[in-house]
This record gives sequence, structure tokens and C-alpha cells, in this order.
Amino acid sequence: MNFHVLTLFPEMFSGVLHSSMLGRAEEKGILSFNLINIRDFSGNKHNRVDDAPYGGGRGMVMQAPPVYDAYESVASKLEKKPHVIYMSPKGHNFTQQKAIELSKKEDIILLCGHYEGIDQRVLDEIVDEEISIGDYVLTGGEIPAMVVIDSVSRMIDGVLSNEESFTDESHFDGLLEYPHFTRPPVFHAMAVPDVLLSGDHAKIEAWRRRQSLLITKEKRPDMYEKNADVYESELNPLPKAGRKR
Ligand code: SAM
Repeated sequence: MNFHVLTLFPEMFSGVLHSSMLGRAEEKGILSFNLINIRDFSGNKHNRVDDAPYGGGRGMVMQAPPVYDAYESVASKLEKKPHVIYMSPKGHNFTQQKAIELSKKEDIILLCGHYEGIDQRVLDEIVDEEISIGDYVLTGGEIPAMVVIDSVSRMIDGVLSNEESFTDESHFDGLLEYPHFTRPPVFHAMAVPDVLLSGDHAKIEAWRRRQSLLITKEKRPDMYEKNADVYESELNPLPKAGRKR
């Protein structure tokens, strides 16, 4: 998977993309990161890429030509049209399901806006979808792009080690994950739940599943509601029929 990022601030990405899980995946050749500075396509000696909005009003708007030329510098070298995402507070909210869907793509371009945003005409021409990382406004699309790169990458085969499976993590199957404990066995008079020290894997699995259901019910009733009938019957199984007391 190749991530191409169109940005005015490529230097913001270096710490995030080249360390930890992403850095390891890049070294293994599973991921590649291509940072394109939109300013390199300004076409003027002051490297300006923004101008005042037509119709007046506050702020500045990123101009269409440098954004388009930055896009073309990537797309013209690829055989297939890359999937282009504009990071935008007007987009659909990013979810785990979207991360799984995007992990199947070969080339993704992430377009990062700044100022008041980008001239609508170039967005209409090149963008396949707009993604928001939440209902709030950030200064630029760089942090949202890093969020998308990180979560999509974790879904790609070989990026996480075997021990770091994502299939029982929060949101993968519509539930939040169970709580974790590690040494020491007692911390500030709080002991690790006995079942986790029992060595009985079936019991541990059952305990974790139950915790997952209870935590989702408490913290995210909106998620729990989507499958409440099934979850409730798991939490409160009916007594087996036919048994006489
Ligand atoms: N004027 C725009 C509006 O009200 O919708 C906000 C522009 S914002 C200051 C500048 C850039 O930050 C946007 O073009 C977008 O790329 C990025 N951005 C801000 N909030 C975002 C969010 N919640 N999700 C994704 N990108 C965001």
C-alpha cells in the first residue's frame, strides 16, 4: 500500500510515519509514504498557494492549480487512478469499517487542507471521498491524515505482529475490548481478577467476552443497541428447558 500525502507541511509527518509500527512496516516494504509539498507547485517565486475568497469574507482559500498539479505529479506516474481522500470536517466520520475498506486499496492520496479550505473546483475534479475524524475543526488536514494512515495501516497483512492481532480490539466487531492487566498481581490493594490467574483458557475467554459486553453496554449504549437482543441473551442466558427442579 502506498500513501501519498499532498500537504503544505510535510515536516509534520516525519516523527509519526517513520517510528513505531509505521516505521517498521515501511522498513519491511509493506507500506510506503510519499510526501508532496503543494507549495512546490505554486508557480510563483513567493511560493504562494492561497488567495482571498471570491464573494468576500474572512480567511484565505487554497488555490486550485497548485493542488491539481501536486495531484497530477502523483497520478500521472500510476497505472490506475489512485483513491483520493480530502480530509475535511464536512466529510463522513471515519470508522473502523472505513479503515478496513481502505486497507484493500493500492494507492491512496490524502489531500490536506489549510486556511478556510480548498477551491471547490479542484475538489470536484479529483476527490473520491471526504473523510472527517470528528465533529470539530482542526487547523489543517495533516493530523487527520496521520490518523487515517495509522488506522488503515494496522488492517494491512503483516503490519502488526502475530501477537498484536486487531480482531479482538475495540470496534472491530461492534464491541469495545475487555480490560487488560499485567504484573504486579496487586497494585494499590487492587488484585488482578482471579480468573486471569487460573490458567483455564475457556474460562478466561468467557470472562473477557462478558467484560466486553458489559463495558460496551455501559460506555457506548449506541453501539450495544445495534445488537442488543443477541448481547442480552449472552449476558442473561435462559435456564435450560426440560430440567426439573
Ligand atoms: N472552513 C472549514 C469549515 O468550516 O468546514 C474548515 C477549514 S479547517 C480550518 C482547515 C483544514 O483542516 C480543512 O480544509 C481540512 O483539510 C482540515 N480539517 C479540519 N478539521 C477536520 C476534521 N474534523 N477532519 C478532517 N479534516 C479536518
